[in-house]
Amino acid sequence: MRALILHAPGKWAWEDIQEPDGEGVLVRVQQVGICGTDYQAIRGCQPFFTYPRRLGHEISVQVLESAGDLVQGMYCAVNPYMSCADCQACKRGDTNCCYGLSVLGIHQDGAFTRLLRLPAFSLHPSTSLPPAILALVEPLVVGYHAVKRARISERDQVLVVGQGPIGLACALMANAVGADLAVMDIREDRRQSGLRLTERALAPVENPEIVVREAFDGDLPVTVIEATGNRAAVHQSYQLVAPGGTLVFVGLYVGNFEFDDPDFHRRELTLRASRNGTHDDFCAVMSLLENGTIDPSWFITDRIPFTEVPDRIKSLDGAQGCIKAMVDMNAAG
Ligand SMILES: [Zn+2]
Ligand SMILES: [Zn+2]
Repeated sequence: MRALILHAPGKWAWEDIQEPDGEGVLVRVQQVGICGTDYQAIRGCQPFFTYPRRLGHEISVQVLESAGDLVQGMYCAVNPYMSCADCQACKRGDTNCCYGLSVLGIHQDGAFTRLLRLPAFSLHPSTSLPPAILALVEPLVVGYHAVKRARISERDQVLVVGQGPIGLACALMANAVGADLAVMDIREDRRQSGLRLTERALAPVENPEIVVREAFDGDLPVTVIEATGNRAAVHQSYQLVAPGGTLVFVGLYVGNFEFDDPDFHRRELTLRASRNGTHDDFCAVMSLLENGTIDPSWFITDRIPFTEVPDRIKSLDGAQGCIKAMVDMNAAG
Protein backbone atom coordinates (compact mmCIF):
# COMPACT_ATOMS: atom_id res chain seq x y z
CA MET A 1 0.00 0.00 0.00
CA ARG A 2 1.07 3.56 -0.62
CA ALA A 3 2.42 5.73 2.15
CA LEU A 4 3.57 9.32 2.18
CA ILE A 5 6.91 9.76 3.93
CA LEU A 6 8.59 12.98 4.99
CA HIS A 7 12.28 12.25 4.46
CA ALA A 8 13.63 15.63 5.45
CA PRO A 9 12.15 19.12 5.82
CA GLY A 10 10.16 19.76 2.64
CA LYS A 11 11.19 16.42 1.09
CA TRP A 12 8.27 14.05 0.53
CA ALA A 13 8.26 10.63 -1.12
CA TRP A 14 5.50 8.16 -1.97
CA GLU A 15 6.55 4.68 -0.94
CA ASP A 16 5.12 1.22 -1.16
CA ILE A 17 4.95 -0.34 2.29
CA GLN A 18 3.77 -3.67 3.71
CA GLU A 19 0.20 -3.89 4.94
CA PRO A 20 0.30 -3.98 8.74
CA ASP A 21 0.14 -7.38 10.40
CA GLY A 22 0.47 -8.59 13.96
CA GLU A 23 -1.43 -7.25 16.94
CA GLY A 24 -4.03 -4.53 17.05
CA VAL A 25 -7.34 -3.78 15.38
CA LEU A 26 -7.14 -3.44 11.60
CA VAL A 27 -8.53 -0.04 10.57
CA ARG A 28 -8.74 2.05 7.44
CA VAL A 29 -7.66 5.67 7.79
CA GLN A 30 -10.47 8.13 6.96
CA GLN A 31 -9.46 11.71 7.72
CA VAL A 32 -6.24 13.24 9.01
CA GLY A 33 -6.00 16.77 10.39
CA ILE A 34 -2.88 18.84 9.83
CA CYS A 35 -1.56 20.69 12.83
CA GLY A 36 1.19 23.08 13.86
CA THR A 37 3.50 20.20 14.75
CA ASP A 38 3.19 18.87 11.19
CA TYR A 39 3.96 22.25 9.66
CA GLN A 40 6.98 22.56 11.96
CA ALA A 41 8.21 19.11 10.91
CA ILE A 42 7.82 20.09 7.26
CA ARG A 43 9.64 23.37 7.87
CA GLY A 44 12.32 21.59 9.92
CA CYS A 45 11.84 23.52 13.15
CA GLN A 46 10.25 20.82 15.31
CA PRO A 47 12.83 20.04 18.00
CA PHE A 48 11.51 16.57 18.97
CA PHE A 49 11.36 15.26 15.45
CA THR A 50 13.41 12.71 13.55
CA TYR A 51 13.27 11.84 9.85
CA PRO A 52 12.17 9.92 7.88
CA ARG A 53 8.66 9.98 9.33
CA ARG A 54 5.14 9.20 8.16
CA LEU A 55 3.03 12.07 9.54
CA GLY A 56 -0.56 12.02 10.76
CA HIS A 57 -1.64 12.13 14.41
CA GLU A 58 -5.11 13.74 14.21
CA ILE A 59 -6.83 10.68 12.92
CA SER A 60 -10.20 9.12 12.29
CA VAL A 61 -10.50 5.53 11.12
CA GLN A 62 -13.04 2.89 10.18
CA VAL A 63 -12.85 -0.54 11.81
CA LEU A 64 -12.21 -3.26 9.22
CA GLU A 65 -12.15 -6.29 11.52
CA SER A 66 -14.47 -6.52 14.53
CA ALA A 67 -12.70 -6.83 17.88
CA GLY A 68 -14.64 -6.90 21.15
CA ASP A 69 -16.95 -3.87 21.28
CA LEU A 70 -15.45 -2.51 18.08
CA VAL A 71 -17.64 -3.62 15.22
CA GLN A 72 -16.61 -3.67 11.57
CA GLY A 73 -17.71 -0.46 9.86
CA MET A 74 -17.62 1.73 12.97
CA TYR A 75 -15.93 5.11 12.70
CA CYS A 76 -13.54 5.98 15.52
CA ALA A 77 -11.41 8.83 16.78
CA VAL A 78 -7.86 7.72 17.54
CA ASN A 79 -5.89 8.49 20.67
CA PRO A 80 -2.40 8.70 19.14
CA TYR A 81 -0.58 8.93 22.49
CA MET A 82 0.99 5.52 23.04
CA SER A 83 1.99 5.21 26.71
CA CYS A 84 3.86 2.34 28.37
CA ALA A 85 1.34 1.66 31.19
CA ASP A 86 4.31 0.75 33.37
CA CYS A 87 6.22 3.87 34.41
CA GLN A 88 5.54 6.02 37.47
CA ALA A 89 3.52 8.55 35.46
CA CYS A 90 1.37 5.87 33.81
CA LYS A 91 0.74 4.09 37.11
CA ARG A 92 -0.54 7.36 38.58
CA GLY A 93 -2.88 7.81 35.61
CA ASP A 94 -0.79 10.58 34.07
CA THR A 95 -0.35 8.64 30.84
CA ASN A 96 0.13 11.90 28.93
CA CYS A 97 3.41 12.38 30.84
CA CYS A 98 4.60 8.79 30.27
CA TYR A 99 8.40 8.60 30.38
CA GLY A 100 8.33 6.65 27.15
CA LEU A 101 5.44 8.46 25.47
CA SER A 102 5.36 7.79 21.76
CA VAL A 103 2.93 9.74 19.61
CA LEU A 104 1.73 8.35 16.29
CA GLY A 105 2.89 10.57 13.46
CA ILE A 106 5.53 12.25 15.62
CA HIS A 107 7.72 9.72 17.45
CA GLN A 108 6.48 6.75 15.42
CA ASP A 109 4.91 6.46 11.99
CA GLY A 110 1.44 7.93 11.67
CA ALA A 111 -1.64 7.86 9.50
CA PHE A 112 -0.47 8.97 6.06
CA THR A 113 -1.29 5.58 4.58
CA ARG A 114 -4.36 3.40 4.00
CA LEU A 115 -4.30 0.78 6.75
CA LEU A 116 -3.14 0.71 10.36
CA ARG A 117 -3.29 -1.73 13.23
CA LEU A 118 -4.04 0.06 16.48
CA PRO A 119 -4.56 -1.04 20.08
CA ALA A 120 -8.28 -1.34 20.85
CA PHE A 121 -7.97 1.07 23.80
CA SER A 122 -6.76 3.83 21.48
CA LEU A 123 -10.00 3.71 19.46
CA HIS A 124 -13.03 5.82 20.45
CA PRO A 125 -16.00 4.76 18.32
CA SER A 126 -19.06 6.88 17.60
CA THR A 127 -22.27 6.00 15.82
CA SER A 128 -23.23 9.64 15.27
CA LEU A 129 -20.09 11.67 14.53
CA PRO A 130 -18.70 11.89 10.97
CA PRO A 131 -15.04 11.04 10.27
CA ALA A 132 -13.98 14.68 9.80
CA ILE A 133 -15.25 15.59 13.28
CA LEU A 134 -13.65 12.47 14.77
CA ALA A 135 -10.31 13.62 13.35
CA LEU A 136 -10.72 16.86 15.36
CA VAL A 137 -10.95 15.01 18.66
CA GLU A 138 -7.19 14.97 19.32
CA PRO A 139 -6.69 18.77 19.12
CA LEU A 140 -9.92 19.24 21.09
CA VAL A 141 -8.51 16.93 23.77
CA VAL A 142 -5.47 19.20 24.05
CA GLY A 143 -7.82 22.13 24.77
CA TYR A 144 -9.95 20.07 27.13
CA HIS A 145 -6.92 18.96 29.11
CA ALA A 146 -5.60 22.54 29.37
CA VAL A 147 -8.95 23.77 30.71
CA LYS A 148 -9.02 20.85 33.15
CA ARG A 149 -5.50 21.72 34.29
CA ALA A 150 -6.61 25.33 34.79
CA ARG A 151 -9.44 24.16 37.11
CA ILE A 152 -11.80 26.75 35.70
CA SER A 153 -15.17 27.22 37.36
CA GLU A 154 -18.30 28.80 35.97
CA ARG A 155 -18.01 32.59 35.52
CA ASP A 156 -14.23 32.57 36.14
CA GLN A 157 -12.52 35.27 34.12
CA VAL A 158 -10.42 33.44 31.55
CA LEU A 159 -8.10 34.81 28.88
CA VAL A 160 -6.90 32.49 26.13
CA VAL A 161 -3.83 33.88 24.38
CA GLY A 162 -3.45 32.57 20.83
CA GLN A 163 -6.33 31.61 18.56
CA GLY A 164 -4.82 28.96 16.37
CA PRO A 165 -6.56 25.57 16.52
CA ILE A 166 -5.29 24.77 20.05
CA GLY A 167 -6.19 28.20 21.42
CA LEU A 168 -9.62 27.86 19.82
CA ALA A 169 -10.02 24.41 21.36
CA CYS A 170 -9.14 25.89 24.78
CA ALA A 171 -11.65 28.72 24.26
CA LEU A 172 -14.34 26.27 23.13
CA MET A 173 -13.79 24.17 26.26
CA ALA A 174 -13.66 27.23 28.55
CA ASN A 175 -17.04 28.23 27.10
CA ALA A 176 -18.35 24.74 27.73
CA VAL A 177 -17.67 25.14 31.47
CA GLY A 178 -19.31 28.59 31.48
CA ALA A 179 -16.20 30.74 31.86
CA ASP A 180 -16.25 34.51 31.40
CA LEU A 181 -14.06 34.35 28.31
CA ALA A 182 -11.87 36.73 26.37
CA VAL A 183 -9.31 35.75 23.76
CA MET A 184 -6.28 37.47 22.30
CA ASP A 185 -4.32 37.08 19.11
CA ILE A 186 -1.92 39.21 17.15
CA ARG A 187 -3.58 38.15 13.86
CA GLU A 188 -6.81 39.72 12.65
CA ASP A 189 -8.07 36.51 10.95
CA ARG A 190 -7.51 34.56 14.15
CA ARG A 191 -9.35 37.16 16.20
CA GLN A 192 -12.21 36.68 13.73
CA SER A 193 -12.19 32.96 14.59
CA GLY A 194 -12.20 33.81 18.29
CA LEU A 195 -15.24 36.04 17.80
CA ARG A 196 -17.25 32.90 17.19
CA LEU A 197 -16.69 32.03 20.86
CA THR A 198 -16.67 35.39 22.62
CA GLU A 199 -17.41 39.03 21.82
CA ARG A 200 -14.05 39.93 23.32
CA ALA A 201 -11.29 39.09 20.84
CA LEU A 202 -8.44 41.37 21.78
CA ALA A 203 -5.36 42.54 19.92
CA PRO A 204 -2.16 42.58 21.99
CA VAL A 205 -1.51 46.31 21.74
CA GLU A 206 1.63 47.83 23.21
CA ASN A 207 0.22 47.66 26.73
CA PRO A 208 -2.15 44.69 26.65
CA GLU A 209 -3.04 45.06 30.32
CA ILE A 210 -5.18 48.07 29.40
CA VAL A 211 -7.33 46.21 26.85
CA VAL A 212 -7.49 43.13 29.05
CA ARG A 213 -8.71 45.13 32.06
CA GLU A 214 -11.25 46.84 29.81
CA ALA A 215 -12.52 43.43 28.75
CA PHE A 216 -12.95 42.27 32.35
CA ASP A 217 -14.52 45.39 33.91
CA GLY A 218 -11.22 46.59 35.32
CA ASP A 219 -10.05 43.18 36.57
CA LEU A 220 -7.36 40.86 35.33
CA PRO A 221 -8.28 37.28 34.37
CA VAL A 222 -7.90 34.69 37.14
CA THR A 223 -6.82 32.20 34.51
CA VAL A 224 -4.63 32.80 31.49
CA ILE A 225 -4.11 29.96 29.05
CA GLU A 226 -1.06 30.53 26.88
CA ALA A 227 -1.53 28.79 23.54
CA THR A 228 1.06 30.41 21.30
CA GLY A 229 4.45 29.15 22.49
CA ASN A 230 5.77 32.50 21.32
CA ARG A 231 8.41 33.99 23.60
CA ALA A 232 6.94 37.48 23.81
CA ALA A 233 3.40 36.16 24.29
CA VAL A 234 4.56 33.78 27.03
CA HIS A 235 6.13 36.61 29.03
CA GLN A 236 3.18 38.90 28.36
CA SER A 237 0.71 36.23 29.50
CA TYR A 238 2.56 35.91 32.78
CA GLN A 239 2.02 39.62 33.44
CA LEU A 240 -1.72 39.40 32.78
CA VAL A 241 -2.71 36.91 35.50
CA ALA A 242 -4.70 38.28 38.45
CA PRO A 243 -3.30 37.85 41.98
CA GLY A 244 -4.05 34.34 43.19
CA GLY A 245 -4.58 33.26 39.59
CA THR A 246 -3.32 30.48 37.37
CA LEU A 247 -1.22 30.51 34.22
CA VAL A 248 -1.37 27.42 32.02
CA PHE A 249 1.20 26.79 29.31
CA VAL A 250 -0.35 24.67 26.60
CA GLY A 251 1.69 26.22 23.81
CA LEU A 252 5.27 25.00 23.91
CA TYR A 253 7.92 27.68 24.02
CA VAL A 254 11.29 26.08 23.27
CA GLY A 255 13.51 28.06 25.58
CA ASN A 256 13.90 29.25 29.14
CA PHE A 257 11.11 31.11 30.86
CA GLU A 258 12.23 33.44 33.62
CA PHE A 259 10.18 35.43 36.06
CA ASP A 260 10.80 37.62 39.06
CA ASP A 261 10.27 35.45 42.12
CA PRO A 262 9.23 38.27 44.51
CA ASP A 263 6.52 39.19 41.99
CA PHE A 264 5.50 35.52 41.65
CA HIS A 265 5.17 35.36 45.44
CA ARG A 266 3.44 38.71 45.74
CA ARG A 267 0.71 37.57 43.35
CA GLU A 268 0.85 33.97 44.65
CA LEU A 269 0.48 32.62 41.14
CA THR A 270 0.01 29.01 40.09
CA LEU A 271 1.93 27.94 37.01
CA ARG A 272 0.90 24.77 35.21
CA ALA A 273 2.01 23.00 32.08
CA SER A 274 -0.51 21.10 30.00
CA ARG A 275 0.61 18.29 27.74
CA ASN A 276 -1.57 16.35 25.29
CA GLY A 277 -4.37 14.57 27.17
CA THR A 278 -5.44 11.27 28.68
CA HIS A 279 -7.81 8.45 27.78
CA ASP A 280 -10.42 10.02 30.07
CA ASP A 281 -10.06 13.33 28.24
CA PHE A 282 -10.80 11.56 24.95
CA CYS A 283 -13.93 10.00 26.48
CA ALA A 284 -15.04 13.39 27.83
CA VAL A 285 -14.54 15.17 24.49
CA MET A 286 -16.44 12.41 22.67
CA SER A 287 -19.38 12.99 25.03
CA LEU A 288 -19.29 16.78 24.57
CA LEU A 289 -19.40 16.28 20.79
CA GLU A 290 -22.08 13.61 20.84
CA ASN A 291 -24.42 15.52 23.14
CA GLY A 292 -23.94 18.72 21.14
CA THR A 293 -22.34 20.80 23.91
CA ILE A 294 -19.58 21.74 21.49
CA ASP A 295 -19.65 22.08 17.71
CA PRO A 296 -16.20 22.53 16.19
CA SER A 297 -17.24 21.79 12.59
CA TRP A 298 -16.26 25.34 11.57
CA PHE A 299 -12.63 24.58 12.52
CA ILE A 300 -12.33 22.74 9.21
CA THR A 301 -11.56 25.45 6.66
CA ASP A 302 -9.63 23.46 4.06
CA ARG A 303 -9.99 19.96 2.68
CA ILE A 304 -7.31 18.28 0.61
CA PRO A 305 -7.16 14.87 -1.02
CA PHE A 306 -4.33 12.69 0.28
CA THR A 307 -2.67 12.58 -3.15
CA GLU A 308 -2.28 16.38 -3.18
CA VAL A 309 -0.64 16.74 0.24
CA PRO A 310 2.97 17.26 -0.97
CA ASP A 311 1.90 19.98 -3.42
CA ARG A 312 -0.59 21.85 -1.28
CA ILE A 313 0.45 21.58 2.33
CA LYS A 314 3.13 24.27 2.25
CA SER A 315 0.70 26.92 1.06
CA LEU A 316 -1.57 26.20 4.05
CA ASP A 317 1.17 26.81 6.63
CA GLY A 318 0.15 30.02 8.36
CA ALA A 319 -2.33 30.83 5.58
CA GLN A 320 -4.86 33.59 6.21
CA GLY A 321 -8.20 32.19 7.31
CA CYS A 322 -6.97 28.60 7.55
CA ILE A 323 -7.87 27.08 10.90
CA LYS A 324 -7.68 23.36 10.22
CA ALA A 325 -6.83 21.57 7.00
CA MET A 326 -8.31 18.09 6.80
CA VAL A 327 -6.82 15.44 4.54
CA ASP A 328 -9.36 13.11 2.94
CA MET A 329 -7.63 9.74 2.84
CA ASN A 330 -10.29 8.23 0.58
CA ALA A 331 -10.22 10.87 -2.14
CA ALA A 332 -8.18 9.87 -5.15
CA GLY A 333 -7.46 13.54 -5.93
ZN1 LIG B 1 -1.85 18.03 16.50
ZN1 LIG C 1 4.49 5.18 30.93
